[in-house]
Amino acid sequence: MSGVRVPPGGTLGILGGGQLGRMLALAAAELGIQSHIYCPDKASPAFQIADRYTCAAYEDPAALAAFAESVDAITYEFENIPAATAAILSSARPVLPAVRALETTADRLTEKTFVRSLGIGTAEFRAVDSHADLASAVAALGRPSVLKTRRFGYDGKGQTIIRPGSDLSEALARMGGQPAILEAFVPFMAEVSVVAVRGDDGAARTYDLVENKHHDHILDQSIVPSRLSVMVEDQARAIATKIIAALDYVGVLAVEMFVTADHNVRVNEIAPRVHNSGHWTQNACLVSQFENHVRAVCGWPLGSTDRHSNAVMTNLIGDSVNSWRALAAEPNASVHLYGKHEARPGRKMGHVTRIFPKSR
Ligand code: AMP
Repeated sequence: MSGVRVPPGGTLGILGGGQLGRMLALAAAELGIQSHIYCPDKASPAFQIADRYTCAAYEDPAALAAFAESVDAITYEFENIPAATAAILSSARPVLPAVRALETTADRLTEKTFVRSLGIGTAEFRAVDSHADLASAVAALGRPSVLKTRRFGYDGKGQTIIRPGSDLSEALARMGGQPAILEAFVPFMAEVSVVAVRGDDGAARTYDLVENKHHDHILDQSIVPSRLSVMVEDQARAIATKIIAALDYVGVLAVEMFVTADHNVRVNEIAPRVHNSGHWTQNACLVSQFENHVRAVCGWPLGSTDRHSNAVMTNLIGDSVNSWRALAAEPNASVHLYGKHEARPGRKMGHVTRIFPKSR
């Protein structure tokens, strides 16, 4: 079994106990692999279904060492892993994907510079560390443009649009003193993503192009097949394949992109992990993004990324989870609930995937 890090009966350690960790652990269980979740939050949804869990801080060296000792390999469900945590874990066990990829993707400036270095398009951008930087960046990129923190932004947090008449000092204050980046506004006709997986042997596969709809900056729906042309789909797949290879990455990652009216694809963001826009693969593909991530990091052969059905995945955010009973009664719907106790506004409580006969 050369190259197999976690055989059936072995244990995969997962950093992070949210819904992504939970669905990774469920996929591991399907392959006869046990999971040990590590998360500081007592109410982690993944704890409910894991074989073992450790509730401790990411900065607790003794807990991290004991966790590493108990598993065969380690993966993670989120990208902001402290460098010291990664160092402790990787000195004891293989950590996949290699945390090097996180250093490239954690900072929007490094990430966009890396993407550009591959000859792939992004929005025009400028680093912003001061009011003077912002004034010259806005002069260069025009309005509207989008000011974002370089790190720790997700679901529209840490970003603001600079419109005609917007006050620059106010916009900069919203960044809370953190290093920022100004991006030209991309007048996109669609937001899309490609989920890709790569194994130890360097062979990469992509799932079909997904069209994403957002509501209040949070992903609302993923639709597949997208309504975009085959040309756009090929372009997007080629971009994701180039990125995953350049990062020498093992596991699943998602590339979020904008499609402009002239059918050009520009990368917005790389998520070095399983991704919300890949949840539809649980029901519309033979092997889901979660199972393929587990296969890749455990050193197994990758599974098919082919799609057997059309799918529309809808997130159940906040109170919308209360419709679970009606959704469960729909004949073509698969309901996934994350076991979270409190339905706060904006909180991802579950998702529903409706499948339809394959049209293309
Ligand atoms: P992000 O946090 O970078 O994923 O951005 C969240 C959302 O803001 C995206 O899904 C887009 O809808 C919008 N957005 C971000 N950057 C840009 C941009 N440069 N041009 C136009 N819209 C953007």
